Amino acid sequence: MTSDPRPHTQPPAAAPAVREDDWRRAADLLRDADEVALICHVTPDGDALGSMLGLGMALRRAGKRVVASFGDRHFAVPRLLRFLPGQELLVEPAAYPAEPGLMVSFDVPTIDRLGLLTPNAGKAKELIVVDHHPSNTGFGTVPIVDPSAASTSMLVEQLLARLGYEVDRDIATCLYTGLVTDTGSFKHSSTTAAVHEMAARLVATGLRTDEIARELWDRSPFCYLKLLGAVLGRVTLDERAAGGLGMVWTYVTRADRAAYCLPYEECEGIIDVIRRTDEPDIAVVLKEDDEGSWQVSTRSKGGADVGRACTALGGGGHVRAAGFTSHDSPEETIAKLSALLGPST
Ligand code: AMP
Ligand code: MN
Ligand code: MN
Repeated sequence: MTSDPRPHTQPPAAAPAVREDDWRRAADLLRDADEVALICHVTPDGDALGSMLGLGMALRRAGKRVVASFGDRHFAVPRLLRFLPGQELLVEPAAYPAEPGLMVSFDVPTIDRLGLLTPNAGKAKELIVVDHHPSNTGFGTVPIVDPSAASTSMLVEQLLARLGYEVDRDIATCLYTGLVTDTGSFKHSSTTAAVHEMAARLVATGLRTDEIARELWDRSPFCYLKLLGAVLGRVTLDERAAGGLGMVWTYVTRADRAAYCLPYEECEGIIDVIRRTDEPDIAVVLKEDDEGSWQVSTRSKGGADVGRACTALGGGGHVRAAGFTSHDSPEETIAKLSALLGPST
């Protein structure tokens, strides 16, 4: 175990990542709007969907017309996230406004992560971008982008405070889901004092942290265990990969999922089993989606910057958690990734 010795009181924060002007402009636009179109990244995770629905419920309560969506070809809320409140705000991509007056994106680093709804964002009059990815490309008209935030939902909480909107238990459930998923249950290095302080404020609304944890991590259909058995059976450890940092990796094909009648989203948690391996710094899971492309999840323990490598391969993410899409075989993809990864300086 290592830990930085820190004085009991936090030192003053570095220059704020989000300009005061942009905070004000985002709050003014939202306050003045009658209609707001919300969007999060394709194959939404807890932070993307939780942030979007959390702000959406508050806006609706303030009397605004709200639509929310994500641009997946097969539009469905992942099973693990079906407990989230606010899903009545969701509309299919086909019903989404073609040229929204005010649009807000959540947890989206690059505009193409809006999938089918990328053209709608291009035509939006104003686009507020709420995000915490270091790889954010700066699209949109009002950037609320802070890579030091552990989750996009942390930025949504600040936005709600500036708007003077109350955070009730349903909104808190959504924001907490973003916080707890992106910090890996408060385990990742992004788990600062500010994260715990926000969690305390949310828990005080009466939300059930035990029920949220069970929905997110502690349940799965029986055939998931069978799939896991197959996938773990072909795991590879290459201690010389990535300039000696080492890599453990495996893959899940469409055929594997078909054999066990499991949708793509059920594979999202496999990386959390693989990355616990002691020997290597890097863990990778390649997941074949329904279109036959490979969605690649990468994790590092801090020795390598997987975000940089994934960005170079057309994806994005953070230093310790990132991803990209590949059309090569798993072996070829691993070779390309390994060549890009080495000890970070
Ligand atoms: P995942 O492995 O899917 O949990 O994703 C880990 C991180 O990488 C998240 O911050 C994602 O937003 C990001 N990420 C995953 N896939 C992609 C992609 N194809 N393009 C950009 N970012 C991605
Ligand atoms: Mn995300
Ligand atoms: Mn996030």
